[in-house]
Parts: sequence; structure tokens; C-alpha cells
Amino acid sequence: AKSEGKCCVRTAARAIDSAMGRRARLARDLPSALELEQFRMVYQPVVGAEERRILGIESLVRWDHPQLGTVPPDEFISLAEEEGLIVPLQRWVLRRATRDAAAVLAAGWDVMTSVNVSVRHLQAGCLAPDVASALAEAGLPPHKLILEITESVMLDAEDRLQSDLATLEAMGCVLSVDDFGRGYSSLAYLARLPVTILKLDREFLADIESDERGATLVAGVIDLGRRLGMDVVAEGVENLGQLRMLRDMGCRYLQGWLFGRPVDATELSGVLAGFDPG
Ligand code: C2E
Ligand code: CA
Ligand code: CA
Ligand code: CA
Repeated sequence: AKSEGKCCVRTAARAIDSAMGRRARLARDLPSALELEQFRMVYQPVVGAEERRILGIESLVRWDHPQLGTVPPDEFISLAEEEGLIVPLQRWVLRRATRDAAAVLAAGWDVMTSVNVSVRHLQAGCLAPDVASALAEAGLPPHKLILEITESVMLDAEDRLQSDLATLEAMGCVLSVDDFGRGYSSLAYLARLPVTILKLDREFLADIESDERGATLVAGVIDLGRRLGMDVVAEGVENLGQLRMLRDMGCRYLQGWLFGRPVDATELSGVLAGFDPG
């Protein structure tokens, strides 16, 4: 038992070591990743509950690391923010997503494209001009672009951030509150900020089928959104039970593995053409 214990300690130490090693490695390799063209955008459909067609696509960034394989954004976005690399990365994301969005529109698909925004880009004060130049370069109409901003940002949105959001809204872009409900403490900003979409955090959906209070909460949020004249998107729809409940609750927009996983731009037209409304 004694040697087993030691072995466990060693194994745990190695696991911590390799976790730290991975983060250190990502931090080391991140600065050159843009130049080496190691980032890639993938797109996931957002479907209408009634329309039964793809109404939008959310762009999600991936990092194809030559040795570590595909690294998910949860592992490198915060790193890029800490290392002061987020603004150039987000500029690349905006350029690529608007370009792909314009191509999808040109191919005859009338869909909106969402881009996830980093609070640091907003704080840097160049989000609105960067969005404007990406739109102009891609030839994408502003009203086809949705900017998704996490709720935590809305909560401490200071006056300057608010005016940047107002600028984006005045340009014609659509603003969406991402991860709505993940630890909020105030709803006042919903009345103050020019947001038109609420994306319900997928945690809420996890057990709406078995948890009556959870289901009541989701129904309440959908109702709140509707009363405020906002569109509510439910994220993380994985099964038919959730789909039926959300439809009955009057949720009009749905996103999740049930309708499609994120795909590369080259596969997008196939997904749009082959979508089976069920
Ligand atoms: P998010 O904005 O909430 O994006 C939705 C996440 O849920 C995506 O993870 C998506 O792949 C995943 N997802 C979609 N449907 C389902 C489902 O049915 N079940 C489950 N379990 N998951 C589902 P992903 O791509 O790993 O992105 C994670 C987060 O990273 C995003 O969360 C977003 O906050 C951030 N992110 C992604 N791309 C960008 C980007 O270009 N810029 C910035 N700043 N952040 C990004
Ligand atoms: Ca999002
Ligand atoms: Ca979300
Ligand atoms: Ca998120």
C-alpha cells in the first residue's frame, strides 16, 4: 500500500506537470500561431423552431497546433487575453468570419453570422472600427452580423463600453448577450444596453426534462426575452425531448448538436443544403 501511495503521488505530480507544461507550451507557441496560419474558423447552425430552417451560423475559432492537435478556444482565448494577443486574433476572426459569411450569402443562403467578441477588444477601444473595416473588406451588410458578448461584460459595461456598443448598434450590427443566466446578479443592463438577442446558457438545458423548477426557469427566461422584444436562442440542444419542450415554451431559435456540430467553411454549403428539418 505504501509503494502504491507513492506511485499515486508521482502520477498526480506528473499529471500536474504535464498540465502546466501544456499551458506553458501554448503560451510559448501562441504569439507565432497567427503568422503561421494555425487558426481556423468552424461554423455551427442556429435553426428556427418554427421556420425549421437554418437562420444563422455561429463562428467558433480553433487552433490547429502542429504537435498538440486541435486546441479548443476555452484553452487559448483567456491565454491570448492575458498575453495581450487577443486584439490581433479577434481581428483575424472578424475578417475570416465576415468573408465566409459574405460567401454564404452570395451562394444564396440568407443567414446571419455570429462572431464571439472578447471584452479586451472592447476595452482596447478598437472593436467598432475593426468590425467596420472587416465588414467593408468582406462586403458584408452590417445587419447580417451578430456580435456575441458574454453577460459578464454587460454587467460591468462602463460608459465608454456602452458607447462602443451603441456605435456598433448604430452601424447596423446586431448585439447578442451570450451565456445569459450564468451567474447574473442584475438584469438592469437589459433595459439599458442596445441588445436584441439573448443566448440562454446551455447549463439551463442540461436537465430541463427531469427538473421541473429548471424547466420553469427556462420558460420564464424565454418569456422575459419575448416581453423585452428580444430573440431568445437556446444553446446546447442535444435531444428531441429538449427540442419539444423549448418549442412548447415558445423559444424560436435553437442551437446544438441535435441540429449540427461546428463544421469548416468548406463543409458549410453541404450542411445548409442538406439540413433536414425533421
Ligand atoms: P460559446 O460562445 O458559448 O459557444 C458555444 C459552445 O458550445 C461551443 O464550444 C460549441 O461547440 C458548444 N456546443 C454547441 N452545441 C453544443 C451541444 O449541443 N452540446 C454541448 N455540450 N456543447 C455544444 P467551443 O467551440 O469549444 O467554444 C467555447 C467558447 O469559446 C465559446 O462558448 C466562446 O465563449 C469561446 N469562443 C469560441 N470562438 C471564439 C472566438 O472566435 N472569439 C472569442 N473571443 N471567443 C470564442
Ligand atoms: Ca457564443
Ligand atoms: Ca454561449
Ligand atoms: Ca461560453
